[in-house]
Amino acid sequence: MQGLEIILLFGAMILVMWSQSKVQNKYQQYSRVAVNAHYTGAEIARLILKRKGIYDVQVEMGQGLLSDHYDPRTKIVRLSPDVYNTNSVAAVSIAAHEVGHAIQHAENYGGIALRNTILPAAIVSGHLAWGVIIIGLFSNIDAIFFTGILMLGVIALFQTITLPVEFNASSRAIGLLTDMGILSADERSYAKDMLSAAAFTYVAALIATLAQIMRLLLLRGRRR
Ligand SMILES: [Zn+2]
Repeated sequence: MQGLEIILLFGAMILVMWSQSKVQNKYQQYSRVAVNAHYTGAEIARLILKRKGIYDVQVEMGQGLLSDHYDPRTKIVRLSPDVYNTNSVAAVSIAAHEVGHAIQHAENYGGIALRNTILPAAIVSGHLAWGVIIIGLFSNIDAIFFTGILMLGVIALFQTITLPVEFNASSRAIGLLTDMGILSADERSYAKDMLSAAAFTYVAALIATLAQIMRLLLLRGRRR
């Protein structure tokens, strides 16, 4: 491997690992800071949904640390046990962020529709891209190799569209929590810090995919 390829490979890996450890550290840190308003994540989620007049979305407790998500097919905001049951800054901000996705869905926010359109192609690409690329490299057939690269491109496109959707859900969360008088000024800056760390994992994932594409193109160019 050449120097630049090594930097692309390991730089991307380190960036992804760093972003994930950062979000875990922030989560640990803000899990210990209680919000003065005594609402748990689940209560906050239901309160926001009610305020927005959304009555067909359920809030449920899921399993596993940081497994929080909104499922648009079943219209369920599923919160991890700690987020569901506690009133920490971490719990409240994550719960509000996931409800932000439910509001995006209810309002037909443009980014989420586009993201859902590309989702099936991104899933197929995620399963096949690396196999196709390896076959392309070993067989030395350009058409196969570049089909694999195109699949990574689809993944990168999906990750790119994910960014504004994530940022939008977080800014909705902070805005709502502030408007509803749930966060004090200090708590608000902690919540922003928590959600920024979470958003950065999506940025890191996109950079990693782009780095892989560049690395593979360099590798291909060198092999010819
Ligand atoms: Zn999100």
